[in-house]
Amino acid sequence: ERFPDRSVSALPDWHFDRIRAEKTLLKQFGTSTLEPFGIADSDLLITAAGVVAEYARSTQGTDLTHITAITRETDNDHLGLDAASHRNLEIVRTLRGEQTNTLFSTLDHCRTAMGSRRLASWLTSPCRDQSEATKRSDAVEILLGSMEKLENINEFLKSIPDFERTATRIALGSVKPRELAALRDALPSLNVIAENLSDLDSELLKETAEELPLPEELYQLLCASLKKEPSTFIRDGNVIAEGFNAELDELRALKNHGGQFLVDYEAREKERTGIPNLRVEFNSVQGYFIEVPKGQIDKVPADYRRRQTLKNVERYITPELKAFEDKAVSAEERSKALEKQLYEELILKCKPFCQDLLNSAHGVSALDALSSFAQHADTYRWIKPNFVPVTSVEIKGARHPVVEETIENYVPNDCDLDAQHRLHIITGPNMGGKSTYMRSIALIVLLAYSGSFVPAESADIGVIDKILTRIGAADDLARGLSTFMVEMTETASILRQATDKSLVLMDEVGRGTSTFDGLSLAAAIAEDLVVNCRSLTLFATHYFELTQLEKTLPDVVNVHVAAAESSKNIVFLHEIRPGAANQSYGIAVAKLAGIPRSVIRGAQKVLLKLEERAAQTDDKQLDLFVASEASSTVFPEEELPEEDPTLLELRDQLADVSMDDLSPRQAWELLADLQKKAKETK
Ligand code: ATP
Repeated sequence: ERFPDRSVSALPDWHFDRIRAEKTLLKQFGTSTLEPFGIADSDLLITAAGVVAEYARSTQGTDLTHITAITRETDNDHLGLDAASHRNLEIVRTLRGEQTNTLFSTLDHCRTAMGSRRLASWLTSPCRDQSEATKRSDAVEILLGSMEKLENINEFLKSIPDFERTATRIALGSVKPRELAALRDALPSLNVIAENLSDLDSELLKETAEELPLPEELYQLLCASLKKEPSTFIRDGNVIAEGFNAELDELRALKNHGGQFLVDYEAREKERTGIPNLRVEFNSVQGYFIEVPKGQIDKVPADYRRRQTLKNVERYITPELKAFEDKAVSAEERSKALEKQLYEELILKCKPFCQDLLNSAHGVSALDALSSFAQHADTYRWIKPNFVPVTSVEIKGARHPVVEETIENYVPNDCDLDAQHRLHIITGPNMGGKSTYMRSIALIVLLAYSGSFVPAESADIGVIDKILTRIGAADDLARGLSTFMVEMTETASILRQATDKSLVLMDEVGRGTSTFDGLSLAAAIAEDLVVNCRSLTLFATHYFELTQLEKTLPDVVNVHVAAAESSKNIVFLHEIRPGAANQSYGIAVAKLAGIPRSVIRGAQKVLLKLEERAAQTDDKQLDLFVASEASSTVFPEEELPEEDPTLLELRDQLADVSMDDLSPRQAWELLADLQKKAKETK
C-alpha cells in the first residue's frame, strides 16, 4: 500500500531470524566470526545484512563469492546531507530531475566509468574527517604541479575499461569474451600509470600507485588463452587463441582446410565427368552439393544422387562429398563446444584474481576522480581550501561552481560565519542572487569535504557535521502534502537535526502562508536556530521585519544583495553587502517579468496605501511585535482613487508598442484604433 507503483513481496518473519542471518553471513564471508567487520555487537545490522545477502543470492541464482566482507559506516564517517539537501544542492540531479548542470556533471571529466562512479560517491557522501579530505586535496595539488604527467596519466586512463564490473561478472560467471580481452589490453597501461605516480610526493597517490598493478599471471593467462579480437559471444566461437589447445587447433584446421579440399574436388570432378562448368557449392539449407547445368546432365555419372531440381540446374550429392560434409559440420560443432568449455575454464581461472581486480579498480577510480578535480581546478582557477579546527566558514570571493560556468560576469562574494556571527539574515530583491549565494557557500563546504579544490579566492572551512537546507517550494501531492506542509515538514526536520556544528540554509521560510503567520513562524524559527541549535545559518527572507533580530538576538548579522534602480528598471548587482536591504523591489522585478502595466500600477497603489498606514504607526516598517494588532489595517477598507479605465488602456497600449516591429500599414491601423478609443473617452 505504501508503494502503489511497485511490486512488493514480503519475506516471511523467519528470514529475519538473527541466528539464521549470522550463519548466512559467516558462510558468505568464509569466517567463523563477524568480529572483524565491526557488526558483531548489533543484532539489527546482522539481521539486515543477512537478509540482503540472502536476497542477492536468490536473485542472482549463484553464490556471490566476490562479496567477501562488509564494512560498517556510521553517521560520523560522512558529512550529513539529508535528502532535501541532495535535491536542493543539485548534486547529481537538478531540481527538475535533469542530469546536466549539476555539481557532478560540472566536475566529471573522468576518463573511466569507475572514476565517474567514485566522483559521484565522493560528492554525494563527502567525508566528515578533515584529514581524509586534506589527503585528497593534497593529491590534487601535487597533480596540478605536474601537469605534463597528469596529461600523460589521463591518456592512459582513457583506455581503461570498466573492470570493476568485469570483476563482478567474472565472479558471477557471466563475463563476455570482449570484456576479458579489453581487460587484457588495459593491463600494461596500469603499470605505466603506477610508474608515473610513484615519484609524486603525495601519500594518497603513493597508495594508489601500489593498488594499480595486477598480477603478471593474469596477464599471461589472458594473452595465452584469448584471441586478439574475440567474438562478442562465446556461442559464435573464435574466442580462444590459436595454440592454446591442440585439439581445438586440429578441429579448426579440419574446418578451414575444407576449403582446399573443395577446390581440388571440383577440379577432379570436372575432369572425371567432362562437364567444364560443374560447380561445388554450399548453402545452409542444402549443405554441400554439385551443381550441373540442365544441358549437361546426360554426362552425370551413376554415383551422383539428385538433391534438388531448379529451373536451369540440377544439384547432386556424392558419397565422397557427403562424407566430407559430415566431417566438416561435426568439426564446427565440436570446436564450438570445446571453445565453450575452455572459456568456462578460463573464467574459473580468473576468479582468484577478482579481489586483485577490485583493489586495482579502487586505485584507478580514485586517481581518475582526483585527476578530474585537478583538471577542473586548473580550468576554472579554483583554490585549495584550508581546514580549521573550529566551527566556522570564512570564504573570500565565493562563486557558485555550476552557475559561474553559465554566466559571463559572475560576481564573487564573501561569507563570514563563526561563533559570533552564527545567523546571517539575507535580504534583497527577488532575482538578486540570494539563493545562488547561499548555495555557493554550501557547495564550497561540500566540495572541500569531498577533497576538491573550491571556486573562491580563499576558503577557511571549519568543523561541519551536516549541511541542512530548506530551499524552494514544491508540492508533494503524491504524499498528500501541500506546499506549505512540505515547507514546514522540512523545517521541522532541520530544527530537530541541526547542531552547533551544522551549516543550515533557509530560503524564504514562511512564505507559503498568510503574511503574519509566515512572518511569526520565520522569526521563531530563526531564533530557535541561533539560540537553541546554535548552527551556522544563512537565512534569506523577504520579511524585512526579521532584520530587527540583529538588535534583539546575539550572533545575528544582517547582509543584503545589492541592487540599484535606474530611471526605468532595477539593476541587480549580485553583491552581498553588510546591513539590511532598504527596499524589496518586488514590483520592479514583476515589471521585468512582463506583468501587465495595469496590474503593476494597481500594485503600486496598494503599496503606497500600505506604506502610508505603516507610517502612521510611528515606525517606517511594521514592527514585528505589534504585527498582530496591525493586521486588521493592512487591507484598505476604502476604495482606491479611480482612473478612467479607457484612458489607462490607451496609455498602456501606446507604451507597449514596439516601434521597430511596426509596418507602415500596422502603424496606420494602430493610430486609427487609438483615435477611435480617444474619441470614446470624451
Ligand atoms: P528569489 O528571491 O526570486 O528567489 P534570488 O535572490 O534567490 O531570487 P537567485 O535565484 O539566486 O536570486 O539569482 C537570480 C539570477 O541572478 C541567477 O539565475 C543568476 O543568473 C544571477 N546571479 C545570481 N548570483 C549571481 C552572481 N553572484 N553574479 C552574477 N549573476 C548572479
